[in-house]
Amino acid sequence: MALLAALREIAGEGAVLTAPADRAAYETDWRQLSHHQALCVVLPQSTAEVAAIVKLCAAHGVAIVPQGGNTGLVAGGVPAPGGNQIILNLRRLHQIRALDPVGDTITAEAGATLHAVREAAARANKLFPISFGAEGSAQIGGIISTNAGGMQVLSYGSTRAQVLGLEAVLADGRIWNGLSALRKDNTGLDLKQLFIGAEGTLGIITAVTLRLYPAPSAQACALAGVADVAAALELFTRLRHQCGPALTLCEFIDGPAMQLGAAHTPGGRLPFGASAYVLLELSALDAAATPAATLERLLVETLESGLTQDAVIAQSTREAQGFIAMREAVSEGELREGGAVKHDIAVPLAAIPETVAAIETLVAAKYPGCRLNIFGHLGDGNLHINIRPPAGQTLASLAARKTAITTDVEALAVARGGSFSAEHGIGQFRLAGMRAHKSAVDLDLMRALKAALDPQNLFNPGKLLPAKD
Ligand SMILES: Cc1cc2nc3c(=O)[nH]c(=O)nc-3n(C[C@H](O)[C@H](O)[C@H](O)COP(=O)(O)OP(=O)(O)OC[C@H]3O[C@@H](n4cnc5c(N)ncnc54)[C@H](O)[C@@H]3O)c2cc1C
Repeated sequence: MALLAALREIAGEGAVLTAPADRAAYETDWRQLSHHQALCVVLPQSTAEVAAIVKLCAAHGVAIVPQGGNTGLVAGGVPAPGGNQIILNLRRLHQIRALDPVGDTITAEAGATLHAVREAAARANKLFPISFGAEGSAQIGGIISTNAGGMQVLSYGSTRAQVLGLEAVLADGRIWNGLSALRKDNTGLDLKQLFIGAEGTLGIITAVTLRLYPAPSAQACALAGVADVAAALELFTRLRHQCGPALTLCEFIDGPAMQLGAAHTPGGRLPFGASAYVLLELSALDAAATPAATLERLLVETLESGLTQDAVIAQSTREAQGFIAMREAVSEGELREGGAVKHDIAVPLAAIPETVAAIETLVAAKYPGCRLNIFGHLGDGNLHINIRPPAGQTLASLAARKTAITTDVEALAVARGGSFSAEHGIGQFRLAGMRAHKSAVDLDLMRALKAALDPQNLFNPGKLLPAKD
């Protein structure tokens, strides 16, 4: 009670939610698989409030689960089992503090949504290039803490590449002001890197300065039909060779996943049937460039050679947005249709076809009847391998085999020089992968950093680092 009263003192009466009905949505992850109680949800409005809350929780020995938009797919932003913790949701800390059109930077508070930052950039005729289906809810603090990827990593890099400076609250309640907008600063260790991809285990990000880019003057988007992932990879390789960084998006979506996406997109309609699809975007900065003509010429060549089976170039921005919306709706569609055992692997590009073939063989042999959805960021070697239960069965029917499925799929990727977690992070759901695939030295270094920055294990316990054996 003393803690709750003190939290209300800091953040205000209405900013501390204790009723189970008020807490429920914050305690449950996006996939609705993890539900553990928090003492309360606190909604601070300033960095100073965050610092005061951290000091208070440290004094009471109460852990803090930092939370952004709660769109994470590995249950990193919701409580782990164990009780004595509060959720600190950053959504009220959401101002855009500054936009520098000369230096091409934007400074935003952690709770600003990705969409709000992209919109603020667009109003200044700039681009913030991180983009994915959950951008209306995902927050800047969340995307930095997970080092999110998305659809344009191909040209611009992941979130880590966009961060110039950070402000964070440390475990002792001090505010670290690293909000630099400099592109060069070799003055010792680059401390901001500690917090990027740390999933809220080392500090609470309260504000950030991000890189912006010139907005493209023209773009063209196309949907191509291909026989399989090997053909998709060849298409990517050809286009990348001819277009370089102007190829700003190259997504692979297999037929079943695309049908799911179309079915769950308002007005969604696939322009043609195919066993697999590749979604492409070419961008140009030069006002005289004609990316639609370039894309058409290149796709005609691939149609003539038989590499692609069909292709449609969007005739309007609205049609292009419709193609992208169908791709983005795949995850939501899966969830609405009962969920899947999800994976987020990356492999070297050349290993994609054999990895997918090995996964198809595995599923047919060990998990017959299960339905595979394979889609993802082809140009990054990052595929989501999602396994749905046999038709007519619920996800619960896979409960006993879920761990074995994930162990098998992740091992296939790692054996080919890949990663078991490409862009979603570790959270609670990938801890077994950390244990299985990270070396003892990797884990020791991570534990040493955790002990140095958060000796009380105050920030996000039970996430990212597996417990010691
Ligand atoms: C439909 C859909 C599509 C998606 N597509 C992609 C995709 O293409 N690429 C991709 O990478 N991800 C994708 N995701 C996953 C998810 O959106 C990202 O992981 C996103 O970065 C999470 O942001 P969030 O604000 O929702 O964070 P949350 O889910 O709230 O939290 C994620 C992690 O960050 C920590 N955290 C949050 N805010 C802070 C803070 N201020 N300080 C310190 N730690 C913090 C949390 O403790 C947690 O560990 C998708 C999710 C959905 C639902």
